[in-house]
Amino acid sequence: MKRVHNFSAGPSMLPLAVLEKAQAELPNYKDSGMSVMELSHRSGLFTEIITDAENLLRELMNIPENYKVLFVQGGASQQFAAVPLNLKKNGKADYVNTGSWSKKAMKEAKKFIEVKEIASSEDENFTYIPKIDANMISSDADYVHITTNNTIEGTAFRAIPDTGDVPLVADMSSNILSEEIDVSKFGVIYAGAQKNIGPAGLTVVIVRDDLIGDASDVCPTMLEYQTHSESGSLYNTPPTYGVYMAKLVFEWVKELGGLKEIQARNEKKAELLYDYVEQSDFYASPVQKESRSIMNIPFIIPGRDLDSDFVKEAQAEGLETLKGHRSVGGMRASIYNAMPVEGVEDLINFMQKFEKQHK
Ligand code: PMP
Repeated sequence: MKRVHNFSAGPSMLPLAVLEKAQAELPNYKDSGMSVMELSHRSGLFTEIITDAENLLRELMNIPENYKVLFVQGGASQQFAAVPLNLKKNGKADYVNTGSWSKKAMKEAKKFIEVKEIASSEDENFTYIPKIDANMISSDADYVHITTNNTIEGTAFRAIPDTGDVPLVADMSSNILSEEIDVSKFGVIYAGAQKNIGPAGLTVVIVRDDLIGDASDVCPTMLEYQTHSESGSLYNTPPTYGVYMAKLVFEWVKELGGLKEIQARNEKKAELLYDYVEQSDFYASPVQKESRSIMNIPFIIPGRDLDSDFVKEAQAEGLETLKGHRSVGGMRASIYNAMPVEGVEDLINFMQKFEKQHK
């Protein structure tokens, strides 16, 4: 069996152990005579799966009791609308603009509320995370929105801003479960599953109790947090197989030692790659050091037109999907939880070889 090192930004690689477990359980899940895909979402076996998934996520992220975990559909992009529709009181919110996904979140929110961009790194092509001071935050804002990890630009908030009494909302699509975080600092956390959680089609929302139940009158039923909160994410048919896969991934993270251990592994992988890029006078990092993501690592070959050769030759060696996003160029290695350290080492070996050939 040939497996490659898949550096895709998402959907991205899943742990082999998880895929193998899913494969083994596929035709006959727990003697039910059917696969999880064929189980009723109201069945006892599925109730067990979704309950386990929630409890495991609560344990891994240390989610306080006064937060609900919702398993919904529509991707992180749907949360761009769901957030303003659920949290609208004064009809105003503050947004931090750190790249393409923040911009999309703002554009969508503007359909429903007044959006104030309180900080932006667009002046330097989103290569850094702007500083957020408490005095930048509007006291009458319904919430402050940040994108904790910028998948395309390769930046991440290294410290969570203190927004005082104004709820902090975070798009954590590309760094949820990658490191320890203090959930109690957030009002809402949302993430598409297709990076660190499981297959595309599932979206996880973690929301503080006091932010549920006061949605705007025009909020569609399916976007209301209350709908999913009071039904245990079973108002309609949830993405059952996605929830099952997420449960297997959560078990895998737990077995590895939880988020503390995952964070140490992720930091080590990122450090290996950044250290190599930094000592090289062939490659360079476009991102300012203190704002670097440990999940998505862009790198460039300045002054040379070698990107497509790099991507092609790397692919021939089993190093897949290293092309940078079209808006940034260069290369990007997405090294989510499932990427083993050997994948990063193989990438660095290839980079060395490529550098020697083309210098
Ligand atoms: N936010 C971020 C930070 C992302 O990386 C992505 C997807 N790559 C999205 C939002 C959009 O997610 P979805 O495709 O699940 O709507």
